[in-house]
Amino acid sequence: MTDFDYDLFVIGGGSGGVRAARIAAGYGARVGIAEEYRYGGTCVIRGCVPKKLFVYASKFSEEFEDAAGFGWQVGERQFDWEKLIDAKDREIARLEGVYRRNLERAGVELFDSRAVLEDEHTVHILSDDRRVRAKTILIAVGATPNVDAGLPGGEHVITSNEAFHLADFPKRVVVAGGGYIAVEFAGIFNGLGAETTLLYRGEEILRGFDGDLRKMLHEEMERKGIRVICGDTFASIEKGPDGLIGQTQAGETLAADRIMFAIGRRPNTSGLGLEAAGVAVSASGAIEVDETSRTNVPSIYAVGDVTDRVNLTPVAIREGHAFADTVFGGKPWSTDHDMIPTAVFSQPEIGTVGLTQEEAVACYGAVDVYRAAFRPMKHTLSGREEKMLMKMLVEPDSDRVLGVHVLGADAGELSQVLGVALRMGATKADFDSTMAVHPTAAEELVTMREPSERIRA
Ligand SMILES: Cc1cc2nc3c(=O)[nH]c(=O)nc-3n(C[C@H](O)[C@H](O)[C@H](O)COP(=O)(O)OP(=O)(O)OC[C@H]3O[C@@H](n4cnc5c(N)ncnc54)[C@H](O)[C@@H]3O)c2cc1C
Repeated sequence: MTDFDYDLFVIGGGSGGVRAARIAAGYGARVGIAEEYRYGGTCVIRGCVPKKLFVYASKFSEEFEDAAGFGWQVGERQFDWEKLIDAKDREIARLEGVYRRNLERAGVELFDSRAVLEDEHTVHILSDDRRVRAKTILIAVGATPNVDAGLPGGEHVITSNEAFHLADFPKRVVVAGGGYIAVEFAGIFNGLGAETTLLYRGEEILRGFDGDLRKMLHEEMERKGIRVICGDTFASIEKGPDGLIGQTQAGETLAADRIMFAIGRRPNTSGLGLEAAGVAVSASGAIEVDETSRTNVPSIYAVGDVTDRVNLTPVAIREGHAFADTVFGGKPWSTDHDMIPTAVFSQPEIGTVGLTQEEAVACYGAVDVYRAAFRPMKHTLSGREEKMLMKMLVEPDSDRVLGVHVLGADAGELSQVLGVALRMGATKADFDSTMAVHPTAAEELVTMREPSERIRA
């Protein structure tokens, strides 16, 4: 089509957009991509990667304490926030460079600019006020943190975006929210030495996760010194002479140097020109797509967080890959959003795959619950009072494992391989017949003989 400048124009240089652009270019498509902030997107620049680096940093405080039980004498400890930020920024800059180079090597044309839609084939590149026409457009603009716009004093709060670049490390922090980003950051601030409070309006943290995990993580976070308040929320925030003062609905006064809101994320669709192009969105602002990631406008597709399907990096990448294979490679396939293993880098960590107990009972009625809560071997010498939880849910008739949930060290790593087993339809007998790896915590998964509970709803 000589009429078009590009076969594909991608808006958003994050996980989904970059993968789609590279794969499509590999099939010989003429591809352009626009990124308004930094290539790599949320995950690389202000999400998964810097967050995990902060988690590593925050764990040393406990490691130093635990070392004493193994005969070590650890000298005076000092934490330097500026050094951590500098090291993290260098690594992020390196990764951003890798993303840019990979796109360039694939033959993709890069624009450092915000881009908006003008119609079903036209994209306006704002930095140089240029309009380009593409046969196909992919929207991969991700999501952005929610703030409580109506909250008096709401202008004083930060979100995860700012948390990665604070000029000074705060001595007192309140994190508002109960999702995975909130619990992860509460663990980071606490581990790095801040007096930390988690304030969540719901009944229990980590809605949507297995009930036992939620309860146990709550207990373990409190044991580490984090104050966890559920069933309450901020009514107002004021700036005082000594920092911020938050008043909660239940009448508590919470003083803090920083208050971070992690109360969910919304699709980045405002001002994107979706109306001009006729792209339909849901009530929450997410772009509606079919299983091939196509919107109601045949020339426009959308992948990743902006579609609010499963908001995780590997999902966005896979959706972008499937789109490019399908539309430009003649190899149609679509992303399977079922049975996705996930980790929460809380302290202790969570790794989970499959149905929660609540979901399993609702779906199947009859469920055998295998549960093991124990003190990991390391803590027999460290003396730390920390429990690990392993939980397996089995459908008694078929013997099929419906879900596995782990709380404890390296649970995220475990969930990756558990995901393979569960997607293959592993039964409890398959786990039982697998030889244990000794001495590990994971051997509990193949040695849980009797159900701790037989639910027959
Ligand atoms: C603090 C935090 C921690 C996270 N941790 C994890 C984790 O541990 N594991 C995990 O799997 N996921 C994690 N996520 C989620 C993960 O980052 C997202 O699911 C993933 O980045 C989604 O990819 P995407 O391509 O949809 O969007 P993004 O990666 O957000 O990329 C969208 C890009 O589009 C750009 N953009 C937006 N509008 C425009 C426009 N109009 N023009 C040009 N460019 C535009 C943005 O600047 C951005 O770079 C985390 C997220 C956060 C915030």
